[in-house]
Amino acid sequence: MATAQQQQSDPEVPVSTMPYPPLHTDKRFVVLSDWDGTITTRDSNDFMTDTLGYGPEKRRQGNLEILAGRETFRDEFRRMLQSVSANGHTFEQCKEALKQNIALDPGFKDFYSWCKANDVPVVIISSGMAPLIRAVLENLVGPEDAAAIEIVANDAVVQPDGRWEIAYRHPSSGFGHDKSQAILPYRALPDPPTIFFFGDGVSDMSAARHADVLFVKKKPGADNDLAAYCTREGIPHLLFEDFHRALGVVRRVVAGELSVRDALALGTA
Ligand SMILES: [Mg+2]
Repeated sequence: MATAQQQQSDPEVPVSTMPYPPLHTDKRFVVLSDWDGTITTRDSNDFMTDTLGYGPEKRRQGNLEILAGRETFRDEFRRMLQSVSANGHTFEQCKEALKQNIALDPGFKDFYSWCKANDVPVVIISSGMAPLIRAVLENLVGPEDAAAIEIVANDAVVQPDGRWEIAYRHPSSGFGHDKSQAILPYRALPDPPTIFFFGDGVSDMSAARHADVLFVKKKPGADNDLAAYCTREGIPHLLFEDFHRALGVVRRVVAGELSVRDALALGTA
Protein backbone atom coordinates (compact mmCIF):
# COMPACT_ATOMS: atom_id res chain seq x y z
CA MET A 1 0.00 0.00 0.00
CA ALA A 2 0.95 3.65 -0.07
CA THR A 3 3.80 4.59 2.21
CA ALA A 4 3.26 7.05 5.06
CA GLN A 5 5.29 9.58 3.09
CA GLN A 6 3.06 9.22 0.00
CA GLN A 7 0.01 9.51 2.20
CA GLN A 8 1.24 12.79 3.65
CA SER A 9 2.30 14.34 0.38
CA ASP A 10 -0.63 13.24 -1.77
CA PRO A 11 -4.00 14.59 -0.66
CA GLU A 12 -5.68 12.10 -3.02
CA VAL A 13 -4.50 9.19 -0.88
CA PRO A 14 -6.56 8.97 2.31
CA VAL A 15 -4.71 7.77 5.40
CA SER A 16 -5.72 4.22 6.28
CA THR A 17 -6.39 3.56 9.94
CA MET A 18 -6.11 -0.18 9.34
CA PRO A 19 -3.39 -2.37 7.81
CA TYR A 20 -3.60 -3.92 4.34
CA PRO A 21 -2.52 -7.46 3.50
CA PRO A 22 0.70 -7.52 1.42
CA LEU A 23 0.27 -7.03 -2.34
CA HIS A 24 0.35 -10.19 -4.45
CA THR A 25 3.37 -8.91 -6.35
CA ASP A 26 4.27 -12.25 -7.97
CA LYS A 27 0.86 -13.00 -9.50
CA ARG A 28 -0.30 -12.40 -13.07
CA PHE A 29 -3.96 -12.04 -12.12
CA VAL A 30 -5.70 -10.91 -8.94
CA VAL A 31 -9.42 -10.99 -8.14
CA LEU A 32 -10.70 -8.20 -5.88
CA SER A 33 -14.36 -8.46 -5.00
CA ASP A 34 -17.02 -6.66 -3.07
CA TRP A 35 -18.71 -8.90 -0.52
CA ASP A 36 -22.27 -7.71 0.09
CA GLY A 37 -24.66 -8.46 -2.74
CA THR A 38 -21.77 -9.58 -4.93
CA ILE A 39 -20.28 -12.70 -3.31
CA THR A 40 -23.49 -12.95 -1.30
CA THR A 41 -26.93 -12.89 -2.89
CA ARG A 42 -28.18 -10.30 -0.43
CA ASP A 43 -26.46 -7.27 1.06
CA SER A 44 -26.04 -7.94 4.78
CA ASN A 45 -26.05 -4.26 5.75
CA ASP A 46 -29.22 -3.66 3.72
CA PHE A 47 -30.72 -6.70 5.42
CA MET A 48 -29.87 -5.33 8.87
CA THR A 49 -31.13 -1.84 8.04
CA ASP A 50 -34.36 -3.14 6.50
CA THR A 51 -35.26 -5.70 9.16
CA LEU A 52 -33.59 -4.37 12.34
CA GLY A 53 -33.02 -0.68 11.59
CA TYR A 54 -35.03 2.17 10.08
CA GLY A 55 -36.34 0.18 7.12
CA PRO A 56 -36.06 -0.08 3.34
CA GLU A 57 -37.65 3.25 2.33
CA LYS A 58 -35.18 5.41 4.22
CA ARG A 59 -32.30 3.20 3.14
CA ARG A 60 -33.26 3.39 -0.52
CA GLN A 61 -33.59 7.15 -0.28
CA GLY A 62 -30.13 7.27 1.27
CA ASN A 63 -28.60 5.22 -1.52
CA LEU A 64 -30.17 7.47 -4.14
CA GLU A 65 -28.68 10.50 -2.38
CA ILE A 66 -25.24 8.83 -2.57
CA LEU A 67 -25.69 7.94 -6.23
CA ALA A 68 -26.68 11.52 -7.00
CA GLY A 69 -23.62 12.81 -5.12
CA ARG A 70 -25.64 14.75 -2.54
CA GLU A 71 -24.55 12.60 0.40
CA THR A 72 -21.33 10.73 1.04
CA PHE A 73 -21.41 6.97 1.37
CA ARG A 74 -19.56 7.34 4.67
CA ASP A 75 -22.17 9.52 6.37
CA GLU A 76 -25.27 7.87 4.91
CA PHE A 77 -24.06 4.33 5.60
CA ARG A 78 -23.17 5.25 9.18
CA ARG A 79 -26.74 6.49 9.73
CA MET A 80 -28.18 3.24 8.34
CA LEU A 81 -26.13 1.17 10.78
CA GLN A 82 -26.77 3.53 13.69
CA SER A 83 -30.49 2.88 13.20
CA VAL A 84 -29.84 -0.83 13.86
CA SER A 85 -27.85 -0.26 17.05
CA ALA A 86 -30.31 2.43 18.21
CA ASN A 87 -33.12 -0.16 18.02
CA GLY A 88 -31.23 -2.19 20.63
CA HIS A 89 -29.70 -4.89 18.43
CA THR A 90 -26.28 -5.87 19.74
CA PHE A 91 -23.38 -6.70 17.45
CA GLU A 92 -23.57 -10.39 18.40
CA GLN A 93 -27.30 -10.49 17.64
CA CYS A 94 -26.62 -8.96 14.25
CA LYS A 95 -23.93 -11.56 13.57
CA GLU A 96 -26.35 -14.39 14.34
CA ALA A 97 -29.11 -12.85 12.21
CA LEU A 98 -26.71 -12.58 9.28
CA LYS A 99 -25.44 -16.13 9.66
CA GLN A 100 -29.04 -17.30 9.39
CA ASN A 101 -30.06 -15.12 6.47
CA ILE A 102 -27.13 -14.47 4.16
CA ALA A 103 -26.42 -16.89 1.30
CA LEU A 104 -23.57 -17.24 -1.20
CA ASP A 105 -23.79 -16.49 -4.90
CA PRO A 106 -24.53 -19.93 -6.41
CA GLY A 107 -21.30 -19.89 -8.45
CA PHE A 108 -18.89 -18.53 -5.87
CA LYS A 109 -17.62 -21.83 -4.43
CA ASP A 110 -16.68 -23.14 -7.88
CA PHE A 111 -15.22 -19.77 -8.83
CA TYR A 112 -13.09 -19.72 -5.70
CA SER A 113 -11.93 -23.34 -6.19
CA TRP A 114 -10.90 -22.54 -9.74
CA CYS A 115 -8.99 -19.44 -8.63
CA LYS A 116 -7.22 -21.40 -5.90
CA ALA A 117 -6.22 -24.14 -8.35
CA ASN A 118 -4.99 -21.57 -10.89
CA ASP A 119 -2.93 -19.39 -8.55
CA VAL A 120 -5.31 -16.40 -8.73
CA PRO A 121 -5.68 -14.74 -5.31
CA VAL A 122 -9.19 -13.67 -4.27
CA VAL A 123 -9.37 -10.69 -1.92
CA ILE A 124 -12.61 -9.31 -0.47
CA ILE A 125 -12.78 -5.50 -0.65
CA SER A 126 -15.73 -4.42 1.43
CA SER A 127 -17.33 -1.40 3.04
CA GLY A 128 -18.91 -3.75 5.56
CA MET A 129 -17.41 -4.67 8.92
CA ALA A 130 -14.71 -7.33 8.91
CA PRO A 131 -15.88 -9.31 11.99
CA LEU A 132 -19.35 -9.79 10.45
CA ILE A 133 -17.93 -10.76 7.06
CA ARG A 134 -15.53 -13.23 8.66
CA ALA A 135 -18.34 -14.86 10.66
CA VAL A 136 -20.69 -15.20 7.68
CA LEU A 137 -17.91 -16.35 5.33
CA GLU A 138 -16.85 -19.06 7.78
CA ASN A 139 -20.43 -20.19 8.02
CA LEU A 140 -20.77 -20.37 4.22
CA VAL A 141 -17.44 -21.73 2.95
CA GLY A 142 -16.04 -23.42 6.06
CA PRO A 143 -13.21 -22.29 8.35
CA GLU A 144 -10.32 -23.38 6.12
CA ASP A 145 -11.25 -21.39 3.00
CA ALA A 146 -12.57 -18.52 5.11
CA ALA A 147 -9.20 -18.19 6.83
CA ALA A 148 -7.39 -18.23 3.46
CA ILE A 149 -9.44 -15.41 1.92
CA GLU A 150 -8.07 -11.96 2.71
CA ILE A 151 -10.54 -9.28 3.73
CA VAL A 152 -9.94 -5.55 3.34
CA ALA A 153 -12.92 -3.88 4.98
CA ASN A 154 -14.07 -1.51 7.69
CA ASP A 155 -14.29 -2.55 11.32
CA ALA A 156 -16.67 -2.08 14.25
CA VAL A 157 -16.34 -0.55 17.69
CA VAL A 158 -18.42 -2.56 20.15
CA GLN A 159 -19.15 -1.17 23.62
CA PRO A 160 -19.38 -3.45 26.68
CA ASP A 161 -23.16 -2.87 26.76
CA GLY A 162 -23.52 -4.20 23.21
CA ARG A 163 -23.97 -0.87 21.43
CA TRP A 164 -21.78 -0.66 18.37
CA GLU A 165 -20.73 1.58 15.52
CA ILE A 166 -18.84 1.22 12.25
CA ALA A 167 -15.17 2.25 12.30
CA TYR A 168 -14.01 3.44 8.90
CA ARG A 169 -10.75 2.46 7.27
CA HIS A 170 -10.48 5.88 5.61
CA PRO A 171 -12.37 8.26 7.93
CA SER A 172 -11.18 11.30 5.94
CA SER A 173 -12.67 9.95 2.69
CA GLY A 174 -16.32 10.39 1.78
CA PHE A 175 -16.23 6.71 0.83
CA GLY A 176 -15.31 5.63 4.37
CA HIS A 177 -13.35 2.86 2.68
CA ASP A 178 -11.90 4.14 -0.59
CA LYS A 179 -11.72 0.91 -2.57
CA SER A 180 -9.44 2.43 -5.20
CA GLN A 181 -6.69 2.21 -2.58
CA ALA A 182 -6.79 -1.58 -2.90
CA ILE A 183 -6.21 -1.36 -6.66
CA LEU A 184 -3.90 1.61 -7.28
CA PRO A 185 -0.82 0.15 -5.50
CA TYR A 186 -0.97 -2.74 -8.00
CA ARG A 187 -0.84 -0.21 -10.83
CA ALA A 188 2.40 1.18 -9.43
CA LEU A 189 4.18 -2.19 -9.65
CA PRO A 190 6.79 -2.57 -12.42
CA ASP A 191 4.96 -5.62 -13.78
CA PRO A 192 1.37 -5.22 -12.52
CA PRO A 193 -1.06 -8.12 -12.54
CA THR A 194 -4.37 -7.90 -14.37
CA ILE A 195 -7.00 -6.87 -11.82
CA PHE A 196 -10.52 -8.28 -12.02
CA PHE A 197 -12.93 -6.34 -9.81
CA PHE A 198 -16.43 -7.49 -8.92
CA GLY A 199 -19.10 -5.24 -7.43
CA ASP A 200 -22.76 -4.35 -7.39
CA GLY A 201 -23.56 -1.14 -5.55
CA VAL A 202 -22.79 2.37 -4.35
CA SER A 203 -19.94 1.11 -2.16
CA ASP A 204 -18.04 0.15 -5.33
CA MET A 205 -18.16 3.58 -6.96
CA SER A 206 -14.65 4.35 -5.62
CA ALA A 207 -13.19 1.27 -7.34
CA ALA A 208 -15.14 1.24 -10.59
CA ARG A 209 -12.77 3.17 -12.82
CA HIS A 210 -9.56 1.55 -11.64
CA ALA A 211 -9.91 -2.16 -12.43
CA ASP A 212 -8.66 -3.77 -15.65
CA VAL A 213 -11.82 -5.83 -15.99
CA LEU A 214 -14.85 -4.60 -14.05
CA PHE A 215 -17.67 -7.08 -13.46
CA VAL A 216 -20.95 -5.53 -12.32
CA LYS A 217 -23.56 -7.79 -10.82
CA LYS A 218 -26.96 -7.59 -12.38
CA LYS A 219 -29.81 -8.71 -10.17
CA PRO A 220 -33.35 -8.92 -11.48
CA GLY A 221 -35.64 -6.76 -9.36
CA ALA A 222 -32.75 -5.29 -7.36
CA ASP A 223 -31.29 -1.79 -7.35
CA ASN A 224 -28.25 -2.32 -9.63
CA ASP A 225 -26.75 1.00 -8.53
CA LEU A 226 -23.23 0.25 -9.78
CA ALA A 227 -24.54 -0.57 -13.26
CA ALA A 228 -26.42 2.75 -13.28
CA TYR A 229 -23.30 4.60 -12.14
CA CYS A 230 -21.01 2.96 -14.73
CA THR A 231 -23.47 3.60 -17.54
CA ARG A 232 -23.83 7.26 -16.53
CA GLU A 233 -20.05 7.73 -16.19
CA GLY A 234 -19.14 5.74 -19.31
CA ILE A 235 -17.03 3.23 -17.38
CA PRO A 236 -16.51 0.01 -19.38
CA HIS A 237 -17.83 -3.03 -17.55
CA LEU A 238 -19.23 -6.52 -17.94
CA LEU A 239 -22.58 -7.42 -16.44
CA PHE A 240 -22.74 -10.81 -14.72
CA GLU A 241 -25.56 -12.66 -13.04
CA ASP A 242 -23.53 -15.10 -10.98
CA PHE A 243 -19.95 -16.23 -10.53
CA HIS A 244 -20.41 -19.25 -12.82
CA ARG A 245 -21.00 -16.84 -15.68
CA ALA A 246 -18.09 -14.66 -14.63
CA LEU A 247 -15.77 -17.65 -14.44
CA GLY A 248 -16.34 -18.34 -18.13
CA VAL A 249 -14.77 -14.96 -18.96
CA VAL A 250 -12.06 -14.98 -16.26
CA ARG A 251 -10.88 -18.41 -17.38
CA ARG A 252 -10.49 -17.27 -21.00
CA VAL A 253 -8.60 -14.10 -20.02
CA VAL A 254 -6.25 -16.08 -17.75
CA ALA A 255 -5.68 -18.63 -20.55
CA GLY A 256 -4.77 -15.80 -22.94
CA GLU A 257 -7.70 -16.60 -25.22
CA LEU A 258 -9.39 -13.26 -24.61
CA SER A 259 -7.77 -9.83 -24.14
CA VAL A 260 -8.95 -7.45 -21.45
CA ARG A 261 -10.32 -5.20 -24.16
CA ASP A 262 -12.23 -7.99 -25.88
CA ALA A 263 -13.54 -9.22 -22.53
CA LEU A 264 -14.99 -5.78 -21.78
CA ALA A 265 -16.43 -5.59 -25.28
CA LEU A 266 -18.58 -8.63 -24.48
CA GLY A 267 -20.75 -6.40 -22.29
CA THR A 268 -22.27 -9.40 -20.50
CA ALA A 269 -20.52 -12.44 -19.04
MG1 LIG B 1 -22.22 -4.64 -2.58
